[in-house]
Amino acid sequence: MARIGIAGAGLLGRLLAWRLARAGAQVAVFDAAPGPAPQFDARGPAAFSAAGMLCPLAERDHADARVAAWGWRSIALWRGIVAELPAPRPFFAERGSLLVAHRSDLASAQRVLARLADETRAAPEPLDAAALARLEPALPPPAHAWLLPGEAQIDPLATMAALHASAEGVAWHWQRPVARALPGRLQFEDGSGAAFDCVVDVRGLGARHGTPLRGEQTECMPPRGEQTECMPLRGVRGETVWLHAPGHGLTRPVRLVHPRHRVYLVPRPDDLLFLGATEIESEDRSPVSLKSAVELMSAAHSVLPMLAEARILRLDRHLRPALPDHLPRTAHEDGLLRINGLFRHGWLMAPALVEDALALLAQWQAA
Ligand SMILES: Cc1cc2nc3c(=O)[nH]c(=O)nc-3n(C[C@H](O)[C@H](O)[C@H](O)COP(=O)(O)OP(=O)(O)OC[C@H]3O[C@@H](n4cnc5c(N)ncnc54)[C@H](O)[C@@H]3O)c2cc1C
Repeated sequence: MARIGIAGAGLLGRLLAWRLARAGAQVAVFDAAPGPAPQFDARGPAAFSAAGMLCPLAERDHADARVAAWGWRSIALWRGIVAELPAPRPFFAERGSLLVAHRSDLASAQRVLARLADETRAAPEPLDAAALARLEPALPPPAHAWLLPGEAQIDPLATMAALHASAEGVAWHWQRPVARALPGRLQFEDGSGAAFDCVVDVRGLGARHGTPLRGEQTECMPPRGEQTECMPLRGVRGETVWLHAPGHGLTRPVRLVHPRHRVYLVPRPDDLLFLGATEIESEDRSPVSLKSAVELMSAAHSVLPMLAEARILRLDRHLRPALPDHLPRTAHEDGLLRINGLFRHGWLMAPALVEDALALLAQWQAA
């Protein structure tokens, strides 16, 4: 039985642990966080702060075709993963999402649509008022609306909890910060170490201060000549608002064309509505600014005026782990696998990246 040591119990760490345990591996996971539950202090997993939108078409606004390809694959994989989690299963829905624009933003919307036209798997469908009313009767008709078919959403908190709770036999070690991930060995910040057949480093932004992300090229990496020795991770700040809005009535994520932010409203179970998100080139982990909160909430209110009476449950922020080209990297050498740089697409791409990583691990074991 292979002994696998995983550094990081975020999205990738939990998904890998869950999959590896089911495949019969002996798995130990080490994380700096105090425990498996979210703290909302911008320190533990970025995964808890995410909207959970699985939007390969909408993300073509600014993301590469490879992100969309991992995304379409991952939606199908999430369907299977959620079905295998014990009841009550995390909320997961494949109803598509909406793109809406106010009259004054039509030109911006057309620029977005032109970029989405590069996606070959799906295309935005214009909606007139009647079609929109059939899909989202609670949404006052905006000037312009499109359905982005095939897109999905998942509840990050419930999924993170379920993956942790149902990864049978996995040894979870909290408050155990990893200083370095080395081939076959984890070195902890207290100076101790542990040996494994294989180490997997999925510490997100926490991997930045360890060994540079290097290794053999995989199909996820840039052509060999372009590969840099050390891939500089940076954090990109994202701020969000969690609302309790009984009777909001939305059944799918709604994205608003907005001059400054990529604003979206994401319905969650129990009358919750999640507003996101700023994208700020800063590693500031301090609380949400007044400007961001006002801009997100006024944009959301312009789409759904009933939000005037919604209650603000939480203002949250975290840093997205990003590499310069905003693409993920899987780097491997004997006894060490690193995956990082999931940026704003972690939930969108994780199952496909994990599936590819497991295929690599199986190849090494067979060799
Ligand atoms: C505001 C916001 C909204 C987002 N919305 C979406 C969305 O709608 N859809 C989408 O696809 N993605 C979204 N994302 C992106 C997604 O959350 C990330 O891409 C994803 O969480 C990255 O997963 P990861 O496992 O690499 O890192 P993380 O989830 O950040 O996990 C890293 C783990 O490593 C641990 N760690 C750090 N340092 C150490 C150390 N030294 N030793 C041990 N453990 C350590 C951390 O405690 C953490 O548990 C969003 C992100 C943000 C911030």
